[in-house]
Amino acid sequence: VSALDGLPLVDHHCHGIVRSSLDRPAFEALLTEAERAGPLHGSLFDTQVGMGVRAICPPLLDLPRFAPADEYLERRAALGPDEVARRMLAATGISDYLVDTGFLPQVLTSPAQLSGYSGARAHEIVRLETTAEEVLARADPSAFADAFRAELHERARTALGAKSIAAYRVGLDLDPARPSDGEVSEAAAAAVRNGTSGRIADGTLTRFFVWTAVDLGLPLQFHVGYGDADVDLHRCDPLLLTPLLRATAGSGVPVMLLHNYPFHRSAGYLAQVFDHVFVDVGLALHNVGTRAEAVLAELLELAPFGSVLFSSDAFGLAEIYAVNTALFRRALAAFLDDGIAREFWPRAEAERIAAMICSGNARRTYRLGTA
Ligand SMILES: [Zn+2]
Repeated sequence: VSALDGLPLVDHHCHGIVRSSLDRPAFEALLTEAERAGPLHGSLFDTQVGMGVRAICPPLLDLPRFAPADEYLERRAALGPDEVARRMLAATGISDYLVDTGFLPQVLTSPAQLSGYSGARAHEIVRLETTAEEVLARADPSAFADAFRAELHERARTALGAKSIAAYRVGLDLDPARPSDGEVSEAAAAAVRNGTSGRIADGTLTRFFVWTAVDLGLPLQFHVGYGDADVDLHRCDPLLLTPLLRATAGSGVPVMLLHNYPFHRSAGYLAQVFDHVFVDVGLALHNVGTRAEAVLAELLELAPFGSVLFSSDAFGLAEIYAVNTALFRRALAAFLDDGIAREFWPRAEAERIAAMICSGNARRTYRLGTA
C-alpha cells in the first residue's frame, strides 16, 4: 500500500528521550530491556534493534547506511542530542504523541519538549501507580481513597488516559471485584507500615486504581507481556486479565493492551471477543527487527482491524522512534499488500484499513478529534 508512506501516525504509548550526550555503553543500555549491557552480553548493536538503528538512522545524520557504531555515535555527539531528536522525529510522521509521564520524569523529556522538537501534538497519559505513590506520600491512609480519586479527577482534565503497570507489581491475574473504601484504607495503611508505599505492589490497591480510572471514563492502558527484567513475564499473559475484562465490558471504557509480545496472538483473541479491548505490538517491532512483518501479521490474525492501534513505546533514544515507525509502516504495508495480492481485499479497502490502524482507531478511542 504505497499510501502508507504519507499517513500520519498516532503513537498511543511512548516515553520521553534523554537529552544528555551518550557514550557507547549508555547508548547500548538504551537499546535493550536489560538494565545495562552486561559483561557477558557482547555488543548490543549485534541485535535486531542494533542492526535496525544502523540500517535506518545513519542517513538521517548524513552518514551512509550501516556506518559503524562508533562513527555513528561520534556524528551523533557532534550534532548534539537536540538536533538528533529533531531529525529522528521528523522522519517518523507521528502527528500525536500520547506520552506515559510516570517513569523517570526527571531524566526524560516532557510531552511539551517532544512537541517542541517535532511540531506534533503531545498529550499526557497518567500512570496510576506513580500518582498513587505521590498521593500516599502526603495523605493519611484513612483518607487515601478520597485523595486519590480527587487527584485522578484533576489529572483527567488534561490527560487523555491512564496506564497501569500492574504487570510489574502484582501480575495480571487481578480479582475483578471492586474493593470497598475500607479495604483500600487498610491496604494503604499496610503499605505505609511495611515501607512499600513508595513502590505500591498490592492487589487491592491496584484494583482500586483500575476502577477509579474506569469510573472517570479514562481509556485504560495495561502494560502486557515483554518488558524489562523487573517483570515476571509468566504473570503478564493478557489472558490473565479475562475476568477483569468481563467485569469492565459494557463500561464503555476502552482497555488498551500494550505490547503483548510474545502473547500477541492471545491479545488478538481478546480484542475479538471484547469490543472494548484494543491491542498493539509496540516495542516488539523494533526488538524483533526483520521479523516485524510476521509479528504484526500474527496480531492481525484475530484482532478486528478496528481494534488495532499503533505505538512505538520509544524510550530514551530518539532513534527508537525512527526505527519503530519505519518497521511498522513496512510491516503494515506488507500485510495489506499480501491481502491485495491474494485478491482478499481491494486496494481502496486496504487503504481505509491502513488509515484506521495508523490513526483513526486511536482518534476514536481517545476522543482526539480529527487531525
Ligand atoms: Zn512503555
